[in-house]
Amino acid sequence: MSNDNNKNKFLFCRVCWKVALATFIAIILAEAIILIPSYHNYSRDWQNNRQGQVLSAAKGIFSSLDQKDLTQFVALEECLDKLLESQIILGWGVSPAGNSEQSHYSGSKPDSQLDNKVRTKQTLLNGKPVLDFLWLSSQSRTPFNIYFRLSLDGLNEALSDFLWRIGGLVAIISLFATVVTMLVLNWHVLNPILRLRNNLQRAGNEVETPQAFTIESTRHDELGDVISAFNDMLIRTGENVQTIRANEKELQSARDNLEVRVQERTDALREEILERQEVEKRLRRNERNLYKIANYDELTSLPNRLLGLDRLRYALEHSKRSNVSGALMFIDLDNFKEINDTMGHGMGDELLMQTAQRLSSALRKQDSVTYLDFDDTVGHEVPERNEDIVARIGGDEFMVILPQIRQEDDAAVVAARLSEACARPFCLNNHEVFVTASIGISIFPRDGLEPQELMMCADTALYLVKDIGRNGYRFFSAEMNSKLVERMEVESQLRYALDNQELEVVYQPVVDVETQQLVAVEALLRWENEQLGKITPDRFIPIAEGTGLIIPIGEWVLEQACSAAMKLDKLGYPIRAAVNVSTRQFRGAHFIESVSKALEKSGLPADRLELEITESLLVDEQSEPVEIINLLRERGVRFSIDDFGTGYSALSYLRRFAVNTLKIDRSFVSGVIESEQDASLTRTIIAMAKNLGLEIIAEGVEDKQHHEFLKLHDCDFAQGYYFGKPMSLAEFLETLHIPKVI
Ligand code: C2E
Ligand code: CA
Ligand code: CA
Repeated sequence: MSNDNNKNKFLFCRVCWKVALATFIAIILAEAIILIPSYHNYSRDWQNNRQGQVLSAAKGIFSSLDQKDLTQFVALEECLDKLLESQIILGWGVSPAGNSEQSHYSGSKPDSQLDNKVRTKQTLLNGKPVLDFLWLSSQSRTPFNIYFRLSLDGLNEALSDFLWRIGGLVAIISLFATVVTMLVLNWHVLNPILRLRNNLQRAGNEVETPQAFTIESTRHDELGDVISAFNDMLIRTGENVQTIRANEKELQSARDNLEVRVQERTDALREEILERQEVEKRLRRNERNLYKIANYDELTSLPNRLLGLDRLRYALEHSKRSNVSGALMFIDLDNFKEINDTMGHGMGDELLMQTAQRLSSALRKQDSVTYLDFDDTVGHEVPERNEDIVARIGGDEFMVILPQIRQEDDAAVVAARLSEACARPFCLNNHEVFVTASIGISIFPRDGLEPQELMMCADTALYLVKDIGRNGYRFFSAEMNSKLVERMEVESQLRYALDNQELEVVYQPVVDVETQQLVAVEALLRWENEQLGKITPDRFIPIAEGTGLIIPIGEWVLEQACSAAMKLDKLGYPIRAAVNVSTRQFRGAHFIESVSKALEKSGLPADRLELEITESLLVDEQSEPVEIINLLRERGVRFSIDDFGTGYSALSYLRRFAVNTLKIDRSFVSGVIESEQDASLTRTIIAMAKNLGLEIIAEGVEDKQHHEFLKLHDCDFAQGYYFGKPMSLAEFLETLHIPKVI
């Protein structure tokens, strides 16, 4: 395929021309060396020939004469003159043998320097070449040496003719030899070199397939070696290129794979982060909503009873630590009920809102009101803990906490200001309305250091204000405390309750919302005393806690509950026992022991015991409960948070403690149908529990509508009078044989 190309290139090939020129010159030189002697030979032959002509003519003439005559010069002269006529001889001379001086001559005189040794001599006559030669007497067989001068006319022409002929021949031969050399060179050397060169260039341009440019050759010389080395190189290069390409491909695909994997991982991570952020956001939103719903009054935006209580507890702690005094006030609007009844609930609500504003303003002495903005983070929502606050604790009841007063009179000044604030006429729907307020005040630490105690004192004082004609304020005094007396009575009776076997544990069923199957029982304590009659746990449990009696009582309840659950288990009801545990029990030295003992004694598996604790225990900053909970959790004991939503402070603890269950407080569940606020709170708690992977129990389910609501919102379990009231174990066992009351 490259031949045409080669042919074309051949004419322009510098190497070719150099070789051709060298060949040509070499041949010319060689021929010239050969031809120069033959030129001389030719010239000599020509002259000899001319000489021979003369001599044969001379011999011809002399042979016609008598030999004797020739001894006579005259005869010789005649003969020689005859020769002059031939025009070839230009002159002659004669000298007697043995004498070199020509005695006679005729025509152009020949050179007499010739002798035996040098018998010819070429000279120029009038610019033309002439040849002098000596014919010895021995040769002419005469007594004379005869000298001839011959004309060499025609010699130059003959020589030039000779040169032309021979030169042309030489040129043709040189040309021919050059061409032949070139063809041989071209065929054997140049062609392979050019092919090598071309293929090398093309292989260089098409680096992917250099082996396509190998050259076929059967030569067995050095060029053959070069070609086979060249082929080897191309093949090896091709293999290398293929290997490199394969490696590159592999590398590329590995890189692609890696990129895809990195991309996938990045996407997955990004999604995960977004999801987490979303969950965090939802959680925070829930937390905020929950915080708001749980801690603030919807109507007035004032802190509600819970937040109020929380602040009261804080103030009391502070008072204990720093020995400062504070005041708690209960404010009740005297004629709210009448206004509400006569002007309608709308006006009643409006009145409450205005009252809330006035109380807040009066408390702060300036016009900043405790209306809170919930768009921001939780941190900004909470009023300072040492601030004076007013909370709405019931329909028309407000609570004011003054965490720090110098003397009782400070509280009196504030109370007077609050009273005045309420006394100014209200404008409701263009009607002027007059309202008065009754205020009961307790002072801490003087009147006590427990919230319940102080509240009772303030309440007692308020009761007295109402009793003696309303519209005013009163400080609590010891005398007015008949309730306190009662409390002491309860306390002293409670000390013997356990020993006197006045206590009983009753059981309330907990059912699966979907199937209504029994899943657990909650153990609830009952007390009946000879003198005091039936006392509700709400009354005696705080006293038991305050006195530490809750510890032996709690142990007893644990044992009762575990053995009851075991009995039910044996009857084919493998249910859980839920036992209420108060904070005080946790602080007791032997709590873990008492749990273990109850489990051991009854034989109940640890994971069938669920301890109900309150949020206040978890938000407690002491580390003790954390350790106790973790230890018991490790053994398999389950934990639930009771009354969830009421003692709420921050959701973060849910992540710190591995609790299993949340129990929505019955105050929310009972309101799900009438109050959108309660419904929303219940829904939020259910959703949040699901988010956190917790089980959820709704308490206080009293009718079908509650049950339907919980079913609709995917609540796991429920408890309440609708499914069964708390019953003695005997009663409980009986109901199990009766079809369910629905
Ligand atoms: P709790 O743990 O929230 O118990 C549930 C309370 O709701 C019980 O009141 C129960 O009778 C009542 N209840 C159940 N279903 C309904 C319903 O559908 N509607 C209504 N209105 N109420 C329902 P109880 O027995 O008076 O107990 C009051 C609180 O006393 C308990 O609240 C618990 O905090 C405490 N308590 C009871 N027994 C013990 C105990 O053995 N140890 C401790 N530390 N506390 C106990
Ligand atoms: Ca409970
Ligand atoms: Ca509860």
